Amino acid sequence: MTVRIGVMGGSFDPIHIGHLVAASEVAHRFSLDRVVFSPTGQAWHKEAGTSAPAELRYLMTVVATAADPRFDVSRVDIDRDGQPYTIDTLADLQAQFAKELPGQDAEWFFITGADALADILDWRDPQGILSAAHLVGVTRPGHVLADPGLRPDRISLIEIPALAISSTDIRRRVQAGEPVTYLVPDGVAHLIAKHGLYTGENG
Ligand code: ATP
Ligand code: MG
Repeated sequence: MTVRIGVMGGSFDPIHIGHLVAASEVAHRFSLDRVVFSPTGQAWHKEAGTSAPAELRYLMTVVATAADPRFDVSRVDIDRDGQPYTIDTLADLQAQFAKELPGQDAEWFFITGADALADILDWRDPQGILSAAHLVGVTRPGHVLADPGLRPDRISLIEIPALAISSTDIRRRVQAGEPVTYLVPDGVAHLIAKHGLYTGENG
């Protein structure tokens, strides 16, 4: 039997229900057995000062996904130095998988916002990525589904229930003292409050 594995990379600063709905919807549509979330490492994270440290972004991602038996969190991008290229994320996860379950066949799916997918030709080694995984672009509000015109057999674009949620807006809300209840899982809201994240004080 072939295991079907989805991968979702991102800064997850913080993870929000848009990410979870997208992962869940793709898992359903593509009959995925698992989805692995891979938060980016620290040095590559934008907006120092108002962003959360890598370990807290990792912790929030673990807490947000804990209840879903399909979801997992990986440290490959957090533990690797250098810019987080998708090709490296996939290579590291595939190597880890082969080591843990030798001989087990797997089919890989990389889940990304359709807006980011439109720039795939600018990603490092797009052909390598397309050999390593099937790309699934999910629409997010305000973005039109664009066909990148590359390997249609390996790229799918799907619409997910529209959620006008972004990490940028969550951070802005926290800073402005506006509620984030129901936009992020409860555990994530608790971690944000407990560590004073996104207030501009503790970073
Ligand atoms: P930021 O506002 O800081 O850019 P973000 O909300 O885009 O954060 P990321 O961690 O950058 O979150 O995104 C990780 C992945 O999730 C990307 O592929 C992104 O396109 C996708 N994504 C983000 N928000 C949504 C959403 N509301 N619905 C579907 N996919 C989303
Ligand atoms: Mg983003």
